[in-house]
Amino acid sequence: MYHLVFQACLAAAPAQCGQILLPAADSPDRAECLAGAGARVRDWLAARPDLSGGDPDCRANADLPALPLEEIAPGIWVTWGAEAQMEEVADGHIANLGVVLGRDGVAVIDAGVSRAQGQALHVAIRRITDLPVAHLVLTHMHPDHALGAEVMAEAGARIHAHHALPDALAARAEGYLDALARLYDPGEWIGTRVVMPDALVRDRARIGLGDRDLTLRAWPTAHTDNDLTVMVEDARVFFAGDLLFSGLTPVVDGSLLGWLDWLRGDPAAGAALIVPGHGRADADWTRLSDPQRRLLKALAEAARDAVAQGLPLSRAVPVIVDRLNPLKDGWHAFGETMARNATAAYTELEWE
Ligand SMILES: [Zn+2]
Repeated sequence: MYHLVFQACLAAAPAQCGQILLPAADSPDRAECLAGAGARVRDWLAARPDLSGGDPDCRANADLPALPLEEIAPGIWVTWGAEAQMEEVADGHIANLGVVLGRDGVAVIDAGVSRAQGQALHVAIRRITDLPVAHLVLTHMHPDHALGAEVMAEAGARIHAHHALPDALAARAEGYLDALARLYDPGEWIGTRVVMPDALVRDRARIGLGDRDLTLRAWPTAHTDNDLTVMVEDARVFFAGDLLFSGLTPVVDGSLLGWLDWLRGDPAAGAALIVPGHGRADADWTRLSDPQRRLLKALAEAARDAVAQGLPLSRAVPVIVDRLNPLKDGWHAFGETMARNATAAYTELEWE
């Protein structure tokens, strides 16, 4: 397989460049990939006046950067994110991303933090199959999961998301893109754009890949107001998105009480393997979810007590974090994330 690539640079800062891959030009034949490459690149750049482009080339799949994919069940692959916050890594690759291979095509679950990560995921997928990437499912709007989506759209994928995702993503898009530019080298984010889903899920939806089905489920507000999970029905592999964290401290960006409600239910019922948004997969729901449930429950209790004592927010936050400190073992970035969570929890529970 050959991929069309070229160097793109910021029109305003021509020394700041990164590599762009246009998946629509993929071909098993280099000459075929090169035919029309110039026109493809021109068209792509025409819609992006902030970028200038170099000469197109077609490179062999093996010569391009690819994310490592691990097969966790037959035809189901995951690239594991670094167990870190976005600020702590050079490329923002912190979320777990999934690839499900069926008879007729591929479904991708989350697309990564940037165009560069989406491209590296695309190259990795092309190492395991030539089947079309038919679907991309976004588990929620957070940048580490959603900003690589345009690559999958250009590859032909239909994008599925929770019905509340478009509003949430649109409201934060500018801030997310600014954060990428602030945190990383241009090579990591050049060409990254926010794209909106094609299909919105209100309750449940089903995606067929010929010989296997995926059930998508949209949830009430929990981690965010647009959380969506994916069950691969035949293999009983459950992708929880960021409704489950392991190792990295969970971030409350929706509703703490809603999240506790979700955890109290049995959302992964029948799952043989559960893949969290961050951290390693586990076959056992209780083992995977208990530490997070304990932590969020303690957060709610501490926030409730702070409100009951009449502490103002500024004094409540350190008191809440202090009280949760004995639970910090095994949670990365506990202090910073818990300070943010304490603010969110206090604000939510203040009006209970
Ligand atoms: Zn998230």
